[in-house]
Amino acid sequence: MFSTEFERDEAKSAYRTETRAPGEREGESPAGNYNPRPMLSLKPVLKECVWGGDRLIKEFHYRNEGDGIGECWAVSAHPHGDCVIEEGAFQGKTLSWLYAEHRELFGGLKALEFPLLVKIIDARTDLSIQVHPDDEYAREHESCLYGKTECWYIMDCPQGAELIIGHHARTRQELRDMIEAGRYEELIRRVPVQKGDFIQINPGTVHAITGGFLILETQQSSDITYRVYDYGRLVDGKPRQLHVEQSIDVINVPDETFREAVSHTRGMPWNERKLLVECDYYKVWKVSLAGALQFPQEDPFLIVSVLDGEGVIGARSVRKGDHLLLPSGYGEVSLLGNMELILSTAKDGKER
Ligand code: ZN
Repeated sequence: MFSTEFERDEAKSAYRTETRAPGEREGESPAGNYNPRPMLSLKPVLKECVWGGDRLIKEFHYRNEGDGIGECWAVSAHPHGDCVIEEGAFQGKTLSWLYAEHRELFGGLKALEFPLLVKIIDARTDLSIQVHPDDEYAREHESCLYGKTECWYIMDCPQGAELIIGHHARTRQELRDMIEAGRYEELIRRVPVQKGDFIQINPGTVHAITGGFLILETQQSSDITYRVYDYGRLVDGKPRQLHVEQSIDVINVPDETFREAVSHTRGMPWNERKLLVECDYYKVWKVSLAGALQFPQEDPFLIVSVLDGEGVIGARSVRKGDHLLLPSGYGEVSLLGNMELILSTAKDGKER
């Protein structure tokens, strides 16, 4: 919070006069667009994980803060990794602070906490077989506002790779029997996928990312994971905690959703925004850019993630691994260059 009105006004005017090249109008891009509200750049939060690799450090420009970095939380206001704004009038403030104090930048979203979390996952080895609760279960059992609906864009994976999505149990009793007897290979459903595939994972869906995958994940801002099985791995000499009862509670039975979970993005047209998913919580698009694309920013906010290549967004040069947040009222978005991009925005969720 600003301590005085004067400080607040100063910050507002600083925000209006963001850095710009000499002779350039405030917020003006090379295409001549005027953007009254500048885009925001956030400092990613890196997470060490038992299954993490080194690609986030070696292939991206994220700074090393440890070994086995499994996740880069690129846009997050979650208390387990609240991104800090890197420059401009709000430099040094967290995204959760900005969302609480300047809701006008988020188009009047009603969600009590910033609702999205965008991360890149580098899985050197298999992640645990897991499931997430929905909002209702998270509120009742975890005192958390959000459950977790998530989706994955596969940036890279080995030839012939498979993900775990869904299961074969026909009744909840059969699910319990299979879990308690450790019959995991019989239980889980393995689905072949390839680079460029997109997968929506609804709450209650058993899932696991397997070794060798690099994934851009867009999800509700939640960190609740129920581990069904962890391959008997030891961390510091001990197995990680499993959550068998919660898992049996929340897993969808029977689960037929795997049939529509995977969509393919190969062969999508260039220089267009292609909607990959719109659910109760978010919208996600892919852009394969070879040239230019312009469109108005009409969503509550727009996260732009550069997965590959380089180019210019507005007046800013960007490269692989950059993530920017374009606020409500940003104006015309202009993209230029050779880039693969994922765009996302949030929705207020189900009517409650
Ligand atoms: Zn998950």
